[in-house]
Amino acid sequence: MANAMTTHRQSLTLDLPADEAHHFAGRGVSSCAREGAAVSADKHPDHQGNHVSDLQLRVRALETVLTEKGYINPGVLDDIVEHYETEVGPHIGARVVAKAWANPEFKQALLEDATKAIASLGLINRVSDHMIAVENTPGRHNMIVCTLCSCYPWDILGLPPVWYKSAPYRSRAVMDPRGVLADFGVTLAEDMEIRVWDSTAETRFIVIPMRPAGVDGWSEERLAALVTRDCMIGTGLPRLPGEAAS
Ligand code: FE
Repeated sequence: MANAMTTHRQSLTLDLPADEAHHFAGRGVSSCAREGAAVSADKHPDHQGNHVSDLQLRVRALETVLTEKGYINPGVLDDIVEHYETEVGPHIGARVVAKAWANPEFKQALLEDATKAIASLGLINRVSDHMIAVENTPGRHNMIVCTLCSCYPWDILGLPPVWYKSAPYRSRAVMDPRGVLADFGVTLAEDMEIRVWDSTAETRFIVIPMRPAGVDGWSEERLAALVTRDCMIGTGLPRLPGEAAS
């Protein structure tokens, strides 16, 4: 079980105001230029008549300057984005969770050193971030956020959803996690502790949700079909056996 007091594990208690939450956030700058393009609400028409945000304009300008100076290759950037859009995704995290559900030894290894345990599965070429797995229990529900920007376990969940990068989620996940969960249609028992984990540029989290009842004897492949992206962020719960795609 992950221990919030352990070094490198930055946990936020529920009653922390947002400004204190930022105190715990990572100081590193994540490479969120393209992914952050949807955050700003200020829109302007571009040369093609499309409405783009201030941030999108800044990203385009920065990309143009870096390209002209020869520091980046737009084609390589496109390849990276395509890789995360088509090859890397929540299906990888789902296999990790399913393995943990099916194999207690692997789950223990995952909780002790998620980076090493995930790498051992060979599902991805490398685990580039310091990964920490946090386990939901009957008494504790975990949620993941990046209060500073949008740090996310890309290696195993792919591209982050837009709402994960939004200011309302980043602030409310800390101040009002039950309200956020309600927005996602999740209602937990009043006495269920909710622990919010703040991702950083160096440290990313994955939630191991509780295994649904009625899946004894299921293969890892069948179990993986129950694992949604949101339940690995902590804003959702796994599908029930009857909801799994056959
Ligand atoms: Fe971030």
